[in-house]
This record gives sequence, structure tokens and C-alpha cells, in this order.
Amino acid sequence: MENVISLPLDRDRDARERRRQEALDRLEIVDTQAETAYDDLARLAQTLCGAPIALVSLVDRNRQWFKARIGTELQSIPREISFCDHAIRQPDRIMEVADAHEDARFANNPLVLGEPHVRFYAGMPILTQDGEAVGAICVVDHMPRALNPEQREGLAALARQATLLLEVRGFLAKQRAIMSAHDDDTRRLLAGQDALRQHNAHLQDVAWRDPLTGLLNRAGMEALRANSRVMARVRNAPYCVALADVDRFKQVNDEYGHAIGDDILCAVADVIRSNIRRGDYAGRLGGEEFVVLWPSTNLEQAREIAERIRLGVERLKLDAPVTISIGLIEGDAAEESRRESLERADRTLYEAKRAGRNRVVADTQTRYWR
Ligand code: GH3
Ligand code: MG
Ligand code: MG
Repeated sequence: MENVISLPLDRDRDARERRRQEALDRLEIVDTQAETAYDDLARLAQTLCGAPIALVSLVDRNRQWFKARIGTELQSIPREISFCDHAIRQPDRIMEVADAHEDARFANNPLVLGEPHVRFYAGMPILTQDGEAVGAICVVDHMPRALNPEQREGLAALARQATLLLEVRGFLAKQRAIMSAHDDDTRRLLAGQDALRQHNAHLQDVAWRDPLTGLLNRAGMEALRANSRVMARVRNAPYCVALADVDRFKQVNDEYGHAIGDDILCAVADVIRSNIRRGDYAGRLGGEEFVVLWPSTNLEQAREIAERIRLGVERLKLDAPVTISIGLIEGDAAEESRRESLERADRTLYEAKRAGRNRVVADTQTRYWR
């Protein structure tokens, strides 16, 4: 019968202790380094009460641990011999033991019988902001005595200061957690953005690149017009455009087959690629027709490169002999539209075909209508 009655009480006590311990755990303060703010509280308590020993102690599971200690080297003591463990049972008031020898709870306590020879103890519980008594600020003397009302009031005030310190600590810990969660989110976001960017770049590459030769396709060449860096170079200086077309390619296909035809297209693309520089652009417009754009380049410079490309193709050692014809123009964005200059390049290419193929014809007369 007795058990039935006492069980709920035990359960209450256990639940209270669990809440208390959780509040202490949340502070993540036990076993941390000494901090001046807590040392100052112990110093003030010691001075205020004129006691040789002053402590800021925290009651943690089965031990009492000192966040600040003056007058003793002890860092922690077992909870079962802790005075503060008694003090925290009445969170709202100071516990004073005038003479431990006279107090049945402590008379046989090893702290009383031996080092540090506790005779007098006064401890005010330190509460968290939720009112959980996680420890106490206490003073100890080696002889029986009592605190005066001012000292009691002062010790209670110091305990409230300790509460504030803990509150700040909790606040900072929460801020840190928020910041680090925020950092995590930011990192995730950036990683996501990065993946997206890579994916977009990949899609763009697929959309703008000719799968056979790896050169830009027609859409890729068109897209250059949205590139302000390229366009600035096209607008601010003469630029050159070449149209190159494989000679009698239909015949090559007919004679050697489409697969060899494809190999030839790749080989021609390689020759073009290896003769232009970074900042020049080459594309396959379709079929066996290629285009090269040289921003900030005049006709003489481009003609030299076009000739090198032509020769490079002629010298290819492939299954079938292959040559290209090139029509080259110098353009001026201020004088001529892009379509007009492409048409002029096409007419020039036609001239190269008509003149016998395997040659570069540069349009020198009708550069633009000035
Ligand atoms: P020209 O010297 O006048 O340019 O003669 P051509 O035979 O090259 O001209 P035409 O335009 O009549 O023929 C182009 C041929 O290119 C037609 C087609 O068989 C071939 N061709 C177009 N696209 C491809 C391709 O992707 N692969 C292969 N192997 N051949 C292609
Ligand atoms: Mg053609
Ligand atoms: Mg052709």
C-alpha cells in the first residue's frame, strides 16, 4: 500500500530532476573552461560574505562541478556529498548550514570531516530562465557562523546575475545554431545553384554544339550575338567572316560512302579548329559548310589563316582526296547588317567555286559601301 502511494511522488521527483538535468545539458556549460564573468561572481561572493571559499557550482547527474572556485582546488565532488544538491531542492531560497557538525545531514560528510573542512555553508540556487535550479553560488567557512541580511540579499543578487550569464550563454548558443543552420542552407543552396549551372551549361552545350564535329552549330553561332564581349569586339573593329564548303562532297559521299564522308567532315573541322585562336569562333552551318568568325581581325590577317586552313585540308591524308573552297569577307558592323555580310561571304564562296575550287577568295572590292 505504501508503495502505491509513494510511486507517483517518486515519478514526480524523477520528472523534475530530468527537466532540471535537461536544462543544464542545454547550456552545454559543464566541463567548459573557466570564464572571468563566473570567476568574478565567486570573488564577489567571497568578499561580500568574508568567507575563505566561494564557488559557482553546477549539479550535474552524479556530481557537483565548479564553474568557478576560490579557496579550493577541487574541480568536482560526488553528488551524494554535495551541499548544493540540498540547496537546489528549494530553488527560491538561500540554504544556510550554520554548523555542519550540528546538522544531521552533513555531520558525517567527508567534506566536513576532512578537506576542505566545511563548517559553515550558505548557498543560493542559480536558476535558468525557465526556473530550473541547475546549481548554486555558495560560500564556505571553516567555523560556525551565519550571514547577515545584507549578505543574504547580496548572495541572492549574485545568483540572479549568474542566471543572466546563463541566459546570455543560451542565447549565444541558439544564435550560433541558427547561424550554422543558415550556413548549411546557404551551402546547400550554393551547391544546388552550382549543379543547376553545370546542368544548364551542359544543356547549352548540347544545344549549341554540332555533335559530329564538336564545332558550334548554327544556333551556337547565332548565340554569339547575345554575347556582349564578342559583340563589342565585332562592333568596335573590323571583323572577318569566312564560309568554307567542301568541294564536290556529294561525289565523295557517292564514291566512298557516308561514313567516310563523316570522317572527312570531322577532319576538316579539326583543321579549322587547330588554325584559329581563342576568341575566334568556328561553326558548322549544316551539311559540308563551315563558318569562321574572326572578331577584331582585318582581311589580310584572316586571309592568311584561311589559306592555312585550305592548305591543311588539302594535305589531309584521308581515304578520299578532299579540298575546300573559302569565301572571305571583312565586315563592318556599322555599315552592313549581319545578313548582308553573310550573303556577301556566300557570293564570295560561289566565286571561289566558279574559279575552280580549292581556293580562298577574299572580297576586296566591295568591302562595304562607304
Ligand atoms: P560543291 O563543290 O559545289 O560544293 O559540290 P558539293 O557536292 O559539295 O555540293 P552539294 O551541295 O551538291 O553537295 C553537298 C553534299 O554534302 C550533299 C550530301 O551528300 C553531303 N552531306 C551533307 N551533310 C552531310 C553529312 O552530315 N554527312 C555526310 N557524309 N555528307 C553530308
Ligand atoms: Mg554545300
Ligand atoms: Mg560542297
